[in-house]
Amino acid sequence: MTKQRKAVALISGGLDSLLAARVVQEQGVRLEGINFFTGFCVEGHTHAIRQRDRGKLKRNNALWVAEQLGIKLHIIDIVDEYRHVVLNPSHGYGANLNPCLDCKIFMVQKAHAWMRANGFDFVVTGEVVGQRPKSQRRDTMPVVARESGAEDRLLRPLCAKNLPPTLPERQGWVDRTRLHAFSGRSRKPQIDLASRYGFEDYAQPAGGCCFLTDSSYAAKLADLWTSRGTRDYELDDIMLLKVGRHLRPRRGFKLIVGREKGENNFLEGYRKRFLHLRTLSHPGPLVLIDGEVSETDLTLAARLAARFSQGRNAPSVTVSSTDPQGRTRVLEVPPMPGGDIPQEWYL
Ligand code: SF4
Repeated sequence: MTKQRKAVALISGGLDSLLAARVVQEQGVRLEGINFFTGFCVEGHTHAIRQRDRGKLKRNNALWVAEQLGIKLHIIDIVDEYRHVVLNPSHGYGANLNPCLDCKIFMVQKAHAWMRANGFDFVVTGEVVGQRPKSQRRDTMPVVARESGAEDRLLRPLCAKNLPPTLPERQGWVDRTRLHAFSGRSRKPQIDLASRYGFEDYAQPAGGCCFLTDSSYAAKLADLWTSRGTRDYELDDIMLLKVGRHLRPRRGFKLIVGREKGENNFLEGYRKRFLHLRTLSHPGPLVLIDGEVSETDLTLAARLAARFSQGRNAPSVTVSSTDPQGRTRVLEVPPMPGGDIPQEWYL
């Protein structure tokens, strides 16, 4: 009797990884999935937080994919290890601060190490030749295989026929003729295959799976590094960049202003770490202040908080300021006129 082969699939929660896994699974390979948590994932967060996204489906798409496939999913936190990928990508960045090629190499490397440690035979990804300008080009596909160490134990079922046969194909663990030759940016082949498998309701994230591809997010991250004079971050930093209106009046002094109820609630969870402001006389945002502030800065921050409150047209607004030790002061300030806020303060 032939031995049943085992593969581990990278599961992002998107359509490509779902299909790639299913293509291998239907050839009788035993499959488990890995989903990596980097802290930059778009998944869930913004939809979960924002009031205006209330109607959108809230679910962990990687778990949903695992459920569709009937496989075990390992969700692995790589926040700390991933930092060096973001800070020092040896292949550089994409259009924003997305180190896609290094990221792919790192994730395949981690999956390959997991494969070896758990007695699995090969790694499966949903990559498609030509789909992404940096990480999924014909010339970068071998780079991922080589630099991750997975070599020809890395199978990309959606575009395998465009690539040299890998070990699982040569050994007959999977039938190459039943793999695919997708290429390019069109999503049609994937959508057709999904419908053939009967998958509906899969995630189609607009603009990519991670915030590092988002120009506004990348600008805020670059600003954080410039302001602190060091290229580094903690998980809380990168979470807070996903939420609120960010204004930087000067280096070392930034305001994070909740834009709506959901964001204010999210920021509440961080208020004990920051000096924070609330408008007392009128409904308004929760404002976190990042950095050391002078008396003048505090008045400015209170006027900005007033500006973004429902008291923006009132002659004055009462604002409380509470420091991380819980000491509260109350200020009475005129709201700053919108036209007086320099555009360059908005990140
Ligand atoms: S978009 Fe983000 S998660 Fe996806 S490959 Fe690029 S850096 Fe990695």
